[in-house]
Amino acid sequence: MSEFEPVIGVEIHVQLSTNTKMFCGCELSFGDPPNTHTCPVCLAHPGVLPVVNEEAVRRALMIGLALGCEIAPRSIFHRKNYFYPDLPKAYQVSQFDIPICGRGEFVAIREDGSELRVGITRAHLEEDAAKLTHLGGRRAGAEESVVDFNRGGTPLVEIVTEPDLRSASDAVTFLRQLRQTLLFLGVSDCSMEEGSMRADANVSIRPVGTHEFGTKTELKNMNSFRFLERGMDAEIARQEEILRDGGRVSQETVHYEPETGHITSLRSKEESHDYRYFPEPDLVPVAPDPAWVDQLRDDLPELPLSLRRRMVDDMGLSAEDALVLTESPELVAYFMEAAALADPKACANWIRGELRAQLREAGTEPWESKVTPAHVAALVDLLAIGTVSVPAAKEVLAGMIETGDEPAAVVEAKGLAQMDESDLAGVIAAIVEANPDQAQQLRDGKDKVMGFFVGQAMKQTGGRADPQAVQKLVRELVLGS
Ligand code: ADP
Ligand code: ZN
Ligand code: MG
Repeated sequence: MSEFEPVIGVEIHVQLSTNTKMFCGCELSFGDPPNTHTCPVCLAHPGVLPVVNEEAVRRALMIGLALGCEIAPRSIFHRKNYFYPDLPKAYQVSQFDIPICGRGEFVAIREDGSELRVGITRAHLEEDAAKLTHLGGRRAGAEESVVDFNRGGTPLVEIVTEPDLRSASDAVTFLRQLRQTLLFLGVSDCSMEEGSMRADANVSIRPVGTHEFGTKTELKNMNSFRFLERGMDAEIARQEEILRDGGRVSQETVHYEPETGHITSLRSKEESHDYRYFPEPDLVPVAPDPAWVDQLRDDLPELPLSLRRRMVDDMGLSAEDALVLTESPELVAYFMEAAALADPKACANWIRGELRAQLREAGTEPWESKVTPAHVAALVDLLAIGTVSVPAAKEVLAGMIETGDEPAAVVEAKGLAQMDESDLAGVIAAIVEANPDQAQQLRDGKDKVMGFFVGQAMKQTGGRADPQAVQKLVRELVLGS
């Protein structure tokens, strides 16, 4: 057991998927030719004036409300000054001491069902920088660097957490569920790969049982949760080694190389006074009408946490079922529609299990497929009343995926209805007669051989036999009981 405890706080940048930029009318684009969505405002020509994007404010408020944050009655923008080629004004318009969303809390659920509570320090609005691409080498080693200003001025919400996380795996659990919540809000695409969601992890360690925080480092620029988790674990291990050797962790920004597993130091971290923050004189404060905020609160969609609790407490699903089924708003809607019509637990099993497995080959999601939620419910009902066996139901599902027909029609067309017991008895008698060795094994108490009979019966009936009925008939015939 390790004698150190990790302490982690994360900062998440979320690009809002508004139509236009934070302070000008330029269209937001991803993947368009470089420098095709620019104007004098986002290129920082002299004398221009920014105007706040109301839709960005609305989405920032939605995020704050979903995170239970205090909403500032009046927040202001600050200039964060630094010189870099991705920042034409040489300052980023951000928020400093009066962010639009203050303290809140996010509750995530771990896979074992336990709660993970993470304090939210703040969530503020700012603008993204332009995109720099280094050609012919990395950073300092590059031959040239080119700038695409399309991204410059994209609305961002930065969410900052308290240092409440105690492991890399908890941090990623939190981040995944936060991402899910943002997707349910519909405020951002939240693509780690495309950079519309970016997470930086602040990591320190301290001796178990102590309360004072250690010096933290900041792990930046990870574009997947998997790599971020590995990076945090590598950084925790690096810090432990330093402390065990009697050294001191220095406050710096670090980078994790997924290929090598190595941590490298990028630069010593700036302090906030290095940025010479000062109030942005070109923008008025954001003072949202309380009635508008109330309206936004009322209009929030049901979020994953509440859905998950409802699935477990009221619908009899496992914590893991609920976690899987709240993966996306589309999947929730699909499941809920089926679960309103048939046994929720059975619907959950079929949707997250067989349906997704069969669709995976085609790379299709349930809600994109020809199978409607009502048809899933109908299939679950056919199983419950014994019209089809489980193996036959899987075949019915395959037929439903292909044709979009309702299950009863597929059962009819493929002749998959379960045989009644008298028809089945004849088949079983023939199987037992043809396999005297296996029958003897059963008499000798080798119960495992029952699997052989069930398999034979399934094969000969094309899956139309009920495994329970097969076992009963075999037992009667061979053992006389
Ligand atoms: P900075 O001044 O370096 O920006 P902040 O206090 O603003 O530091 O915190 C930035 C982030 O780092 C927050 O997410 C916070 O929870 C986290 N953090 C602060 N101190 C520590 C620490 N000692 N260990 C781990 N994370 C920390
Ligand atoms: Zn512009
Ligand atoms: Mg800070």
